[in-house]
Amino acid sequence: MARKVTLIPGDGTGPELIAAARKVIDASGADIEWEIMNAGLDVMEEYGTPLPEPVLESIRRNRVALKGPITTPIGTGIRSVNVALRHSLDLYACLRPCKSYPGVKSRYQNIDLVVVRENSEDLYAGVEFDVGSEEAELIRSLSKGKIHRPSAISIKPISAEASKRIVRFAFEYALQNNRRKVTAIAKANIMKYTDGLFFRAAREVAEEYKDKIEYEEMLIDAMCMQLVQRPEAYDVLVTENLYGDIISDLCAGLVGGLGVAPGANIGEQAAVFEATHGSAPKYKGLNKVNPTAVILSGVLMLRYIGETAAADRIEKAVASVIAEGKYVTYDLKPDRNDPTAVGTSEMGDAIIRRMQEIG
Ligand code: NAD
Repeated sequence: MARKVTLIPGDGTGPELIAAARKVIDASGADIEWEIMNAGLDVMEEYGTPLPEPVLESIRRNRVALKGPITTPIGTGIRSVNVALRHSLDLYACLRPCKSYPGVKSRYQNIDLVVVRENSEDLYAGVEFDVGSEEAELIRSLSKGKIHRPSAISIKPISAEASKRIVRFAFEYALQNNRRKVTAIAKANIMKYTDGLFFRAAREVAEEYKDKIEYEEMLIDAMCMQLVQRPEAYDVLVTENLYGDIISDLCAGLVGGLGVAPGANIGEQAAVFEATHGSAPKYKGLNKVNPTAVILSGVLMLRYIGETAAADRIEKAVASVIAEGKYVTYDLKPDRNDPTAVGTSEMGDAIIRRMQEIG
């Protein structure tokens, strides 16, 4: 029986990217029935919210979704749909594999890193107090003179429970995907309580896997330098929310940028697969941007639901089309103004043809 999957086209360039990815996945032999659910700017008027309840219900029911990017309007008070989805469904683990594909312009080759980012707490918990507010002044009075000027204040909550949960996720991912090492990243020499707790929790979990997977700890600043100098020394990286956000972009940069960086947000009850990039609104409707990141997010999704053969088929075809460099979007051409660059849908179709050729 076909596996039901929620498909959220999103807004901006999302619908054209998702259309290309869907066509590729449908041609891969994967047995999927899509349940199309709309969210984002385009449904605001009809539902009064960019994230209507039926979308969440569909993901809860199907437990798996492939999602296009969704714009967060600035200065309207509307909460990011992407953040709301992660919180509503407790998608606590953000998974971002960063792998080199020959043919993608990059300073590095042979990168194969996986970033596992905690999604639910840290400075992204949204507990912030404005300069001059009663709460900020109260915290300042408790700081024993360490906050000596009127300041805006963000709170960084780190729990042992969420830290252990994300580190366990990283080790399980490492085990299931034949990875050799997990590196936990924080800044515990400065934030002794919060990041200290993260490392203690990580060590406790690492102990359970010590016969199978190597474990090490790195300070975030040293990690950034190491990733630039010798990325091949690392494998699975696990870290808190803010450091994870930054490290993910750094690693996406190592493999050639946002056009090729897939991702997933995974919880106990559901998983939402989406590219790292946003809705690139200036290219909306132009059939121009690169569908690779969304297609590779689909590959992650297929692996997650056990459609391994279909996932392998797509990944091989994507790699081959990129290596050939002929039917690729502008961002994958040596010169971004190359008139031979193809559009989003043409690159998707080239991947389908290549799947058929490879067999
Ligand atoms: P963006 O990723 O949308 O675009 C930044 C630039 O990256 C683009 O102008 C383009 O040059 C390039 N780019 C992005 N995707 C590409 C692709 N597939 N192919 C080729 N080039 C690509 O980032 P932004 O402009 O900061 O964000 C636009 C909107 O998207 C914002 O509202 C933001 O909140 C939202 N956003 C959504 C998600 C999500 O849905 N998960 C993630 C990030 C940002």
